[in-house]
Amino acid sequence: MLDKTLAELSTSLEQGDFSSVELTQAYLDLIKAKDSTYNSYITVTDELALQQAQAADERRQQGKATALTGVPIAHKDIFCTLGVKTSAGSKMLDNFISPYDATVVSNFNNAGAVTLGKTNMDEFAMGSSNENSYYGACRNPWDTARVPGGSSGGSAAAVAAGLAPAATGTDTGGSIRQPAAFCNLTGLKPTYGRVSRFGMIAYASSLDQGGPMARTAHDCALMLNVMAGIDGNDSTSADHPVADYTATLDQPLSGLKIGLPKEFFSEQLNPEIATLVQSAIKEYEALGATVKEVSLPNTALSVPAYYIIAPSEASSNLSRFDGVRYGHRCSDPKDLEDMYKRTRGEGFGSEVKRRILVGTYALSEGFYDAYYKKAQQIRRLIQQDFVRVLSDVDVIMGPTTPTTAFNIGEKTTDPVEMYMEDIFTLSLNLAGLPGMSLPCGFSNGLPVGLQIIGNYFAEEKLLNVAHKYQQATDWHTRKPEAR
Ligand code: GLN
Repeated sequence: MLDKTLAELSTSLEQGDFSSVELTQAYLDLIKAKDSTYNSYITVTDELALQQAQAADERRQQGKATALTGVPIAHKDIFCTLGVKTSAGSKMLDNFISPYDATVVSNFNNAGAVTLGKTNMDEFAMGSSNENSYYGACRNPWDTARVPGGSSGGSAAAVAAGLAPAATGTDTGGSIRQPAAFCNLTGLKPTYGRVSRFGMIAYASSLDQGGPMARTAHDCALMLNVMAGIDGNDSTSADHPVADYTATLDQPLSGLKIGLPKEFFSEQLNPEIATLVQSAIKEYEALGATVKEVSLPNTALSVPAYYIIAPSEASSNLSRFDGVRYGHRCSDPKDLEDMYKRTRGEGFGSEVKRRILVGTYALSEGFYDAYYKKAQQIRRLIQQDFVRVLSDVDVIMGPTTPTTAFNIGEKTTDPVEMYMEDIFTLSLNLAGLPGMSLPCGFSNGLPVGLQIIGNYFAEEKLLNVAHKYQQATDWHTRKPEAR
């Protein structure tokens, strides 16, 4: 029962093969037995999970079950969860018990899903390896000496290790897609505004977007069905119709036009990853797609532009953590200034401090034009590149990451080397576009992700394109040996 996808669990619950309480208890037992190896959960919500499972079983008996009723999932610890610690991976929020649910969490609750717990993450979602968590690094189930990716590393590790069938993540510059690639999962970063950000602790508000992380595109579609939609509590959520994302999964791909950006196949890319991505493209040709080379000439500028814009927004968003309202407060402050300084000095980790410094500098008088404004201009150029290419092709494909999962500690001393991990994922957050990563093979036993980028609100298309590939291949069904 613990090896099933969300879709299979949904069917089994419907058929009465087991109850949600039995299923939930089995997951809780497995987490207890195994998570000391992976450190994928910050909080396991045993009591809440069993209450929700009980309620789900009753709801099913009353004939009111939805596809996700009774199905357990995990939430990245960035989504506020009523009555549950919501830390965002930071000491600053180690004592924060959320007084409300994020819209994403309440959407899952309303569907009858069960919350197993809150997953580990880089502090305030800043990172590509999960090593910036106050709760310690998280381990990749494919090789526990390696990182699971970040910042949604805990969600990825938990699903890959079989400690949750699926999980939520957030993606500001790649944090759903990169850990999905490193852990052999399927992850979707929706169009900006598709999923409400209400109650999702803010990192860079113009880039942040929540989305599903699961084993298959079908499971991502089931999750997006409840995650997507306009929300009166988030003025940037989009008033755009929500499809049934499972309805179009099987559409044939004949005539699909794929663009391969030549900038994504640069010398930074590990040659084995290039080869695996090329074979995935061949598979698509066999499914009826046509392929052409395209150009996204400003790709290289996405790293410097992102690492000005994201820290600028972060420096502003994180000013709320001042020791006054909630979260950590230093002991025995001498005066107000001493309290601010020591609270923030003690509460934030070094990567978060680095970004607050960079962001504050970039926004300061005299430097604003040279940095922040320039970065916004580059952002527009990047967006225009995508709009031009996507007027000619249906989807863009390429690698998700330039490397496979690296060793814990390998890149922690050089922030720029760590930032280069995001070279293929950042640009579409800057443009606000949706993207997916899905398993397309292995290099030295480590998973490799294929990235698919679509036009605004083309989530149905992306899921369809990913699903057809998963019908024709079995990479996504492979599991780490330790499981
Ligand atoms: N690695 C990127 C960063 O550190 C992206 C993180 C994310 O998407 N949350 O900002």
